[in-house]
Amino acid sequence: MMLGYLLARAGVDVYVLEKHADFLRDFRGDTIHPSTLEVMYELGILDDFLKLPHQEIRELAGQIGNDTVTIADFTHLPTHCRFLAFMPQWDFLNFISKQAATHATFHLKMRTEVMDLVRESGRITGILAKTAEGTLEIHAALTVGADGRHSVVRKSAGLEVINLGAPMDVLWMRLSRKPDDPEQTFGHVENGRIFIMLNRDAYWQCAYVIPKGTAEEIHQRGLESFREDIVKLSPFLSERVDELGDWNQVSTLTVTVDRLSRWSLAGLLCIGDAAHAMSPIGGVGINLAIQDAVAAANILGARLLKGTPAETELRAVQKRREFPTRATQRLQVLIQDRVIRRVLGSTKPLTVPWLLKRLERWPFLRRIPARVIGVGFRPEHVKGVKGRISA
Ligand SMILES: Cc1cc2nc3c(=O)[nH]c(=O)nc-3n(C[C@H](O)[C@H](O)[C@H](O)COP(=O)(O)OP(=O)(O)OC[C@H]3O[C@@H](n4cnc5c(N)ncnc54)[C@H](O)[C@@H]3O)c2cc1C
Repeated sequence: MMLGYLLARAGVDVYVLEKHADFLRDFRGDTIHPSTLEVMYELGILDDFLKLPHQEIRELAGQIGNDTVTIADFTHLPTHCRFLAFMPQWDFLNFISKQAATHATFHLKMRTEVMDLVRESGRITGILAKTAEGTLEIHAALTVGADGRHSVVRKSAGLEVINLGAPMDVLWMRLSRKPDDPEQTFGHVENGRIFIMLNRDAYWQCAYVIPKGTAEEIHQRGLESFREDIVKLSPFLSERVDELGDWNQVSTLTVTVDRLSRWSLAGLLCIGDAAHAMSPIGGVGINLAIQDAVAAANILGARLLKGTPAETELRAVQKRREFPTRATQRLQVLIQDRVIRRVLGSTKPLTVPWLLKRLERWPFLRRIPARVIGVGFRPEHVKGVKGRISA
């Protein structure tokens, strides 16, 4: 959606295809990072965006065993917004699609599911999609696969996927929220369990992290046992946990971490999770996907006005974005292996690790995780727009 917006803004004729009828489907994260807010500032849409209901998180804290630790402090970032905004992703996508729709060259086709790629003389020249009215074929100078971690586009293109592995999946559910509940979104880490609660005003959106492939086992232990586990982590939910009366209210989200060895072919480019599926750790996947979009628009926008980009020009996008992707995934895999795997496999009570104790002792160190989470490696800026951060 972001790439569609940026290209339409540059005058390129764009079709964005979305298989669902709205954006209220699969969970894909709620975080809008300072670097994404900076992109919106550069585009002149930040003030309108901040009028939408959202929460502003200036510090990230978590409970480990009985101790609460502050992990990141965003208030020193070199960005206009020194906070992380929490907003349901459908509100964010609706907002961006409205901005994009102000450009006559932007076309959004909902309920249009890409099924395959169209090829001519060894290059990709478009897509075949399924719609309520039947099959649709669209021909394009460039096809961009931005269809997430189960990308049909990259599969149809036969691009090689390097799987980095993930030790966890996530059980995802809602529980009601009361006025005297804690305000903040927070995480609670105990031996064998990680529980994250996102404040969505009327309800808590809860994420219960489980060892990969154990959802079935948890189902078999029964809902009562699952409800007891939640209450152990957040006792104030004891009177509400009965709201979970059926496993249908609990979705299993599979976590994948991978990347393509090659993001492009003649006529085709993959970006976002389609090029590199991100772990939920640090909640940075949306940020990376948007940064890819900005880089792709900067590199290809003007070129697309003149015709089909050459393969070397498409490869320039990967060249620009590969380092931030690899560096972020490396950190995520390190945390998965050193922290998540250990926590989920542990039976003894947890204590705060020495590294996090240093953050408590020297609060200025919290600026480092804030920088990695909030801005990331090699931040992108919208080409030709003033007011950039000096990051
Ligand atoms: C459990 C979990 C929690 C996460 N939490 C966070 C978080 O809090 N913050 C964060 O930044 N990141 C988070 N992530 C990572 C984040 O979800 C992704 O990195 C990010 O959404 C990638 O954006 P994208 O646009 O590339 O893909 P997606 O957000 O997956 O979007 C792909 C879009 O393509 C559509 N689509 C798919 N197939 C087709 C098709 N064949 N035809 C047409 N349309 C299609 C989909 O419906 C979807 O709208 C989380 C990931 C997981 C698994």
